[in-house]
This record gives sequence, C-alpha cells and structure tokens, in this order.
Amino acid sequence: MTGYFDFNATTPLLPEAREAWLRAAERHWHNPSSLYREAGITNQKLETARERLGQLLQVEAERIVFTSGATEANNLLFSAFTGQTTAISTIEHPSVREAARHWTKVSTFEADGEMPEGVALVSVMAANNESGQLLPWRELALLCRAKGISFHTDATQWLGKLEADFSPCDYLSGSAHKFGGPKGAGFLVLRDENERIRLIHGGPQENGRRAGTENYPAIEAMVTALETITPQLAACDGAGRDAFEAAMQASFEGLRLISAEKPRLWNTSLLVMPRHENLKWLTRLSRRGFSISTGSACSSGKEGSSVVVTALGASPDELRRVVRVSGGWYTTVKDWHELASAFQEVGAELDAGGMG
Ligand code: PLP
Repeated sequence: MTGYFDFNATTPLLPEAREAWLRAAERHWHNPSSLYREAGITNQKLETARERLGQLLQVEAERIVFTSGATEANNLLFSAFTGQTTAISTIEHPSVREAARHWTKVSTFEADGEMPEGVALVSVMAANNESGQLLPWRELALLCRAKGISFHTDATQWLGKLEADFSPCDYLSGSAHKFGGPKGAGFLVLRDENERIRLIHGGPQENGRRAGTENYPAIEAMVTALETITPQLAACDGAGRDAFEAAMQASFEGLRLISAEKPRLWNTSLLVMPRHENLKWLTRLSRRGFSISTGSACSSGKEGSSVVVTALGASPDELRRVVRVSGGWYTTVKDWHELASAFQEVGAELDAGGMG
C-alpha cells in the first residue's frame, strides 16, 4: 500500500472496520424493522451506532440520517430546500454544486470573502478534496446562526483527517470510504431531530427520512472506522507531505503548489508540474507502483474538477499539468521520499522524450 497516494479519492478498509463489518454481517443480518428478537437486537445495535457517531461528531444522534454516502446526503439536503435560494462556495465538490443547481436557485461566493445575504441555506465544505484547503466553516456556521440562515458543511474530506466539534453546524455530511470505512455508507446530520426531509421514497426507515432497509453492517463498519482513526489523528502532522513538497521544489524549477499558503489538510498536495501533461506523469508513476490523481477521481477529465482547480487558482494552461497527491495515516516519510524520487525518474524520462 506504500505507493498509494490517492486517499482523497478513497481509502482502503481499516482492519478494524472489516472485522466490524464481518461480525455484523454474520450475526446481525436481520432486518432491523422486523419484530422478532434478533431483529430487535440488530435495531438496537443500529441505534447504538448512531449514538456513537453522534458522540464523535458532537451532535445529537437523533439528527443523524444514514445514507449511501455523501453524494446522497448532499442531494437529500438540497432537496429539502427545493425552489429556495442558497449559496455555496466556489470550490464545492460536484455533489454539492450539482445538487444545489438541481434543487435550488444557487449563487457562489469565495469562502473567505463576503457571504451573500437573503439566502435560506449556506453550504461551505470543511476541507477541499483537491488542494486540501481548510475553509472557515466554523466561523461561517456561527455567522449564519446569528443571522438566522441555515448552514451546512460537507465534511467528507475533513472527517478521519482532523477532529472537530461540529455542533455549530445545522447540517453536516460525511462518507465512510474516505476514512477507512466501506463504500456505500454515509450520513447527513439534520438541523433538528423532528425535521421532515425525504429524497428516497418508500418504507418508514430512518424515521421516515430515508426509505430502504438499513445497511447495518456497513454503518457499524463506518462508525468503527471513525472511532479507530480519530485517536490516531494527533500523530498526523504532515511531516512526510512537507518533506515531499520540499524535495519536489528542489528537483523541479518552476513547480507551483496550489493553496500552500493557506491552512491545509496534512495529507494533500496539489502541484502544477512545470512541464509535461498530468496524464503522462500519472501513467508513468502508475507503472512504477505509485497511484496519484489528476484531480478528483469522480470527475477527472470532466468539468467537475477543472471548475474547482480553476477557482483554486490554476490558469487554463496550468490545468493540464495539475497533479494531486494525497497520503494516508500510515504513509511514512520514507514513502513520501520514494514518491518524490519516482517523480524525479519520470521527469528525467519525459525530458528525454521516453515512450509511453
Ligand atoms: N464531498 C466531497 C468533498 C468529496 O470529496 C466526495 C468524494 O469524492 C464526496 C462529497 C462524495 O462522496 P461519496 O463518494 O460518498 O458520494
């Protein structure tokens, strides 16, 4: 796993989460809505998982709706504001941007600039998936509260990388596979426990807010993953990423780091290579066993990531040379050095006009 540098796209399943999933799937596979004893136990465990997640996020468990991931959570949120005016930051993930466009009348604003007035909802992500930039979500949440505006943060990239008290936020979304949990599990925290909200129609599950049999094993694994990783975050200081960036700057004259002057996640580096297209770097690094990205995986090559990377400050010409590198909790300083060395080798190969 040492060559894997695409943690912002997805993370490997933590062993603790795998164990939790297997145990839940083997012992508590019953439908939580059924009425016999075993189903009641599954339902209790599901509710305990909700309580545990509420404690980690510092929000009331009753406000949590389990979903299939952050994309569904973001759509569920914006569907509740159908036809209303909303404001989002210029660097939101497509699952916020497109959901906001689909359901609401949306305007965009710079998260560190002036917040629009007269909107029903403001949505600003906690950490950006491309550059790792941290946004002032806490300040904005408090400002919105003072003005009576609802505030949402998409904390998908923050969770599992930094700790936080999310109690100032009205709405919060997250996704298990970004913090060592399984794919297909996530959640939306609602403003209040009695809120009527619904995107997927059908049965009365999730208190009538999300129909469909609850995926208890995945939910159990998601909560276990966050419980496992949270105490380890204090040791994640970005030393490896910083050493990598220093090595890259020393090797490549004219290399530019995006958002480096801003507060950033400790694991992410968004680089504009001084020459050669990003896909050439990516394929040659991949052959050497290193996985990196040219932008967010769900939108690579499409409008999605270029809109955001442009808003982060890349020129149209630079866009073709942008690469994103994102490490994980167990990526060592040595792994980061090896990646920098691989970049140097690939750079020499590309300069020499190597095939491929
Ligand atoms: N929000 C952000 C900031 C993301 O990085 C992602 C995933 O790339 C999502 C939302 C979507 O998450 P999911 O894969 O759970 O739908």
